[in-house]
Amino acid sequence: MDQPRPDLETEHSLAPATRAVTAGREPAGPDSPVTTPVVLTSTYTASDGAAAPGDRGYGRWDNPTWAALESAMGELEGGRGVAFASGMACVAAVLSLVPVGGVVVVPRAPYSGTAQLAAELAAAGRLAVREVPIADTDAVVAALDGADVAMLETPTNPLLEVADLPAIAAAARAAGTLLAVDNTFATPLLQRPLAVGADLVGHSATKYLGGHSDVLLGVAGAADEALEARLRSHRTLHGAIPGPWEAWLVLRGLRTLHLRVERAGANAAELARRLAGHPAVERVRHPALPEDPGHERAAAQMSGFGAIVGVEVRGGPDAAERVCSAARLWVHATSLGGVESTLARRRRWATEAPTIPEGLIRLSVGIEHIDDLADDLLGALRQ
Ligand SMILES: *Cc1c(COP(=O)(O)O)cnc(C)c1O
Repeated sequence: MDQPRPDLETEHSLAPATRAVTAGREPAGPDSPVTTPVVLTSTYTASDGAAAPGDRGYGRWDNPTWAALESAMGELEGGRGVAFASGMACVAAVLSLVPVGGVVVVPRAPYSGTAQLAAELAAAGRLAVREVPIADTDAVVAALDGADVAMLETPTNPLLEVADLPAIAAAARAAGTLLAVDNTFATPLLQRPLAVGADLVGHSATKYLGGHSDVLLGVAGAADEALEARLRSHRTLHGAIPGPWEAWLVLRGLRTLHLRVERAGANAAELARRLAGHPAVERVRHPALPEDPGHERAAAQMSGFGAIVGVEVRGGPDAAERVCSAARLWVHATSLGGVESTLARRRRWATEAPTIPEGLIRLSVGIEHIDDLADDLLGALRQ
């Protein structure tokens, strides 16, 4: 006998940590697989007669492994999930919603790929870009006037600025601006933008959702069916589809997301405390620190502070590079959100915004033991 899926009311009573484990599974039947299989197929056998809505049809249109991941992410975000080939494919899909000649609002220092794509579209005359300091709510609200889409990020990568999401969502609604939030740093366990009124949410699942630095993938979430359909159509027609194996890896990653986010967040907060006041450190950025400009807002709208820490090292870019090379346990690499701790000086890459300090090292704190992480990093700082 098939067990019916728990009804919505039961699902609403589940804690996010439980949902991360239960969401996106097939109804159980005798001998049914407990985990979702990787379905490798380019096409599906046709049903008799005319195609019915919901027919998978062809491999670029739909796939059961994507569907399981999308269902899980939709449940976690409180919306409708759409999986993409990468986080940037999500960003591109969101920017495609800006009409030709329209206006998009972006943070002054967003993820560098978002900034580059918006600038490229602006240079081609496709749209106009308004850059805002996202922690300045009045400035963001003013920029929403006459804008078609706001593509925000909070906390931002890598400055960890925090936007007032409920206030901005209300203002976006009043202005008729679609609000999209890149939720990569927070994950749906720490922040659910759709629940406070955003229209769209996006993730680089390459980071925390996958969580093991072994896959590139993106997942968007839409608040309603019409927006979901536009994202799906963009994905299908641009071919921005994930591989089934990649979707499976991210679904597998989701199952331990709460454990990883919890441990990495605790490590990050402790490390930020140990680094603040260190003689080789000019400034530590992490919203868990009471003195951080984003602390109060993050405490009000997030259920944790995340595991990214910004450290500005005294002695400028050269000193920062030396710290990155001297670390042994910490992996010197870009990207973030894996089980292993990584660090990199952001301005090492020419694509990074000039507003980011030259000596800023972004730490992606992993799930190792805090004392090992601290010993290694403090040792590197002494060099
Ligand atoms: C990495 C990242 C992206 C881009 O994601 P990819 O999976 O690398 O395409 C977008 N936004 C943020 C905040 C990121 O950290």
